Amino acid sequence: FSGGGVVAYSESRSETEHPIVDAGVVPKKKVVVLGTGWAGTSFLKDLDASRYDVQVVSPRNYFAFTPLLPSVTCGTVEARSIVEPVRTLIKKSKGEIKYWEAECVKIDAANRKVFCNSNINNLVGRGEFSLDYDFLVLAVGSQVNTFNTPGVKENCHFLKDIEDAKRIRLSITDCFEKAVLPSLSEEERRSNLHFVVVGGGPTGVEFAAELHDYVQEDLRNLYPAVKDLVKITLIQSGDHILNTFDQRISTFAEQKFTRDGEVCSVPHGLIVWSTGISTIPVIKDFMEQVGQGKRRVLATDEWLRVKGCKDVYAIGDCCTIDQRKIMDDISAIFAAADKNNSGTLTIEEFQDVMDDILLRYPQVELFLKKKHLLDFTSLWLDSQGNERKEIDIEGFKQALSHADSQMKSLPATAQVAAQQGTYLARCLNRMDQCEENPEGPRRFRGTGRHKFLPFRYKHFGQFAPLGGEQAAAELPGDWVSMGHSTQWLWYSVYASKQVSWRTRVLVISDWTRRFIFGRDSSR
Ligand code: FAD
Ligand code: MG
Ligand code: MG
Ligand code: MG
Ligand code: MG
Repeated sequence: FSGGGVVAYSESRSETEHPIVDAGVVPKKKVVVLGTGWAGTSFLKDLDASRYDVQVVSPRNYFAFTPLLPSVTCGTVEARSIVEPVRTLIKKSKGEIKYWEAECVKIDAANRKVFCNSNINNLVGRGEFSLDYDFLVLAVGSQVNTFNTPGVKENCHFLKDIEDAKRIRLSITDCFEKAVLPSLSEEERRSNLHFVVVGGGPTGVEFAAELHDYVQEDLRNLYPAVKDLVKITLIQSGDHILNTFDQRISTFAEQKFTRDGEVCSVPHGLIVWSTGISTIPVIKDFMEQVGQGKRRVLATDEWLRVKGCKDVYAIGDCCTIDQRKIMDDISAIFAAADKNNSGTLTIEEFQDVMDDILLRYPQVELFLKKKHLLDFTSLWLDSQGNERKEIDIEGFKQALSHADSQMKSLPATAQVAAQQGTYLARCLNRMDQCEENPEGPRRFRGTGRHKFLPFRYKHFGQFAPLGGEQAAAELPGDWVSMGHSTQWLWYSVYASKQVSWRTRVLVISDWTRRFIFGRDSSR
């Protein structure tokens, strides 16, 4: 599999080497899916479950629309409005999907087994069990990274799940109710109303913005005695907040926060810790088993197959794609393209191999874009810009020598997770067709390599709500928009992205309720 540019060919060829199976005689292959977040549910939605025996394990029997979690912390939308039961989602599937409410506690890669514990959610006596798999899909997400900072686990709120958001909402109410009690000194009132957010990424900024609106629009009126004592602090170690966004957005956001650069101890009522993500223990343990113990994040290849292990796939936040460098494979690619072994490529051979390279190495497309090269024939020119007759290995290397600088890892976002789930489902749907019909159905006939293109991410842009009915958006094509109208775009996109009409109606009516009556500050 490490052959480089020619990989795509050998890949599909090995698929057809499987024995032809008769679906009526041979039992269906077992697919086990761990997790029902963005990656897991989008996989299940697109998987043709009639082809497999599908079982899903997740400790939460719902899918949560995480982009609206910050809104749940302030009651702008209700928790129940952004969750959809897993059982409702899997009922829509063509085939039967079994769901078990449990947590996977161990993966045994050598024996193709997962061990699960259903004594979760404060329920005991529900027991433990194990499941065998032929294909395992890891979609377990990530956990909050505390960087081993002492006291964080005990004293800070995280904002990862519905339960976290509900706890934060209660805690905000608590801070205000406590701050107005008669027995407190002014100093105590102030520290109870100091809200601290650690981490200037999208989640931290969004929470701070939501809280600011909640205070301005609702709580100031309800707690007039302490309205001037409220303070919200955002702590960030890097230079800029929202530094994964376009710089125009990060500057605009910073204007909304005043800067302060001291090291100090801060008395506070509530801290929300949101400084990035790390690998969950069950995946760490699995990484040891498959020879990835030294890595920080589980690595897959571009087909989302876990490296060092057969028939295990990983999607979403629990993994990262370990992309191949084109320069590592360049000699093998050249040799395969030079069909007559002349030591040089003609322009036709060059164009042919570049078509494959663009499919296999996403960085080459980015490289061409970045250099504003409309197509790769410009790579065919020599260093003086003259057209060549043929290109030798040195010229070939030189033409592509800077392409690898464009490699970047994909962000840990819902967009990536959902696209990976869809991609993997389509691969599994087709894998079975290939076995039944080695020639492939008509649309896959011809160049066999098109059966299994590597995963390719398509970025549709991202939002950053900034409070005060303003938002920033980064849209495809280097387009940035900020302000009130962007907030309306945000409302419409987030409404349209809901997984069901039920949650869509709930979310929109929550927003409407909030516009008319304000937020509900009761416990
Ligand atoms: P998750 O969605 O986290 O799902 C993991 C699943 O695995 C869950 O069902 C969990 O219960 C289950 N699980 C955990 N442990 C186990 C186990 N041991 N065994 C079995 N199952 C297990 N992304 C965007 O693109 N846009 C946004 O606006 C955005 N806003 C966000 C706001 C917040 C507050 C947060 C926290 C995230 C936001 N994200 C956003 C990021 C996005 O939510 C994640 O990238 C996405 O959820 C990743 O999907 P996933 O399926 O990998 O993980
Ligand atoms: Mg998932
Ligand atoms: Mg999720
Ligand atoms: Mg990932
Ligand atoms: Mg030749």
